[in-house]
Amino acid sequence: MNRVLVTLLLATALAGADTVVLRDRTILEGAVTKGEKALAVAGRTVPLDEVLLWENDAGLAQFSPSFEAQMDACRALAIRDRLAECRKRFPEAVAAGAVDAARAMLELAAISGLPAKEGADWDAQLLKAERKEGASGAADPARIFADIVYRRAKAELGAGEERQYRGWQLLRATLQLDGTHKDALGTLAEIAPERPLIGQSKEGKPDPARARRLWLDWQVDVLRGEVRPLGRRAPDMERARNVWRRDLNGVETREEGAEIVFVTPIEDRTEILGKCVRYAKITCRALAKVFATDQPKRDDNEPLVIYFFESRDEYMKELGGSPMAQMSLGLYARSDNISRFFWPSTPDATREVRRVFVHELTHHWIERRNPRWHASDFSATETRHEVPGYWVVEGFATFIEEGRYDIDTYKWSLFSPHAGSLGAVAALSREKERAMIDWDKLFVLSQAEAQGEWIKKPGVFATAKKTWGITPQPFSEGRLYYEQAAAACHYLYWADDGKYRAQLLDYMTAHYTAKREGTSVEKAFGITPRELGTRIEEFARKVVDGWRPPKE
Ligand SMILES: [Zn+2]
Repeated sequence: MNRVLVTLLLATALAGADTVVLRDRTILEGAVTKGEKALAVAGRTVPLDEVLLWENDAGLAQFSPSFEAQMDACRALAIRDRLAECRKRFPEAVAAGAVDAARAMLELAAISGLPAKEGADWDAQLLKAERKEGASGAADPARIFADIVYRRAKAELGAGEERQYRGWQLLRATLQLDGTHKDALGTLAEIAPERPLIGQSKEGKPDPARARRLWLDWQVDVLRGEVRPLGRRAPDMERARNVWRRDLNGVETREEGAEIVFVTPIEDRTEILGKCVRYAKITCRALAKVFATDQPKRDDNEPLVIYFFESRDEYMKELGGSPMAQMSLGLYARSDNISRFFWPSTPDATREVRRVFVHELTHHWIERRNPRWHASDFSATETRHEVPGYWVVEGFATFIEEGRYDIDTYKWSLFSPHAGSLGAVAALSREKERAMIDWDKLFVLSQAEAQGEWIKKPGVFATAKKTWGITPQPFSEGRLYYEQAAAACHYLYWADDGKYRAQLLDYMTAHYTAKREGTSVEKAFGITPRELGTRIEEFARKVVDGWRPPKE
């Protein structure tokens, strides 16, 4: 006897008629017996991986199917229920002479699997029916679907705390299908706090119904069971309300190593807000791994404070229209340890925001959270912009920015074969003119010098005509400085099985703590700046030609 059959026989049979929805949208009904790898539904054996949903008598979904699987199953059930409702109401409509309603039901039934023969019969009945006024309207497919999704929401919400998030997702889906769904609104009123933190104070008048909808949107998109709302009296919130504006919303995460406070006046664009919080988290997680050390010198857990503005105008106003603000989508300010961002109105916004979030929060995290130096090491901070080797600051932030990040699974990879910096250096080093910043000079200059020399210079300095991206690619000196510095970090992080990785992190400590002797490239890596530059160019060309690191 095979194993599946044995477990089937040993398993307890459940009484009553259960509903099982399969991946191919087949709906089975009858007594279900659960085995280890299969269900027996009314005598038929179905492997578990073909089951989309098993709804038992208690209305509880089995196997914790995903939100998407549940919505798929609801869709299949809605089609079945639609057909059943049409079958019941079509004769009523015909009898009442409600020809339009009956025709609408026929059309709906036809796309819900009404057999052709039955359809022809309905057609004939329709032709005979007389038109009368006042009979009931057609079945409403959106309402039927919403009812079924709502039923799933109730089941999940009743299934204990760990199923709560799925329940919120389904309840929100119900209200997206039918914003006036009475039962769903009733359930929402039961589960939402009496005075939700969000959506209370806009435009003066409290609107409890709107506040509850916003509460649900925040739960599903932003809080996701991983993040907490920030109370009005939290110190970071009070500070923001004093220096910025009063009508702010906030969340915080206390995940160790990724403590974040996120404050925004935005209430309703919750999908965007959720993305930003998750990019912030994944950046912190990646950096915590890169800089992990057995002997941390710092164990304070100051959160990264992030202000997310309503618009570019508000952001510009806040930053006083400085030139850095003019050309940026976000900025970390050392003066008050706050990172500020906004969501641009460009079609490519998600990608741009991801890059600027990861870049600026890398600056922020390294400055305030890096365990490799102590807060008191900052006594020399005032002169840091005079310390040589600023390339490591912008190069490293750009290197981290060029990694690949998946905020749904929280997986990332710091190696990206399509890193723009490597593409740029590879392409430019293949040009006959080889117009690049002199590596000798790049590795030495301080922040103040680099800004004067390159970063703030506009205009095209070099053009890459071949091998990479949309050609020709123009580069200003400022952009070249970032690309070359980032390519240097890629090389020092990955080359020769990560041989220089530890030195790269030590070099960064030396720069950030203003230990000048540690910022000599020759002393730090045992390679002359010129030789290092040559190797970086070779490495960039190798990556563009398909080289991959053996392991992360
Ligand atoms: Zn930067």
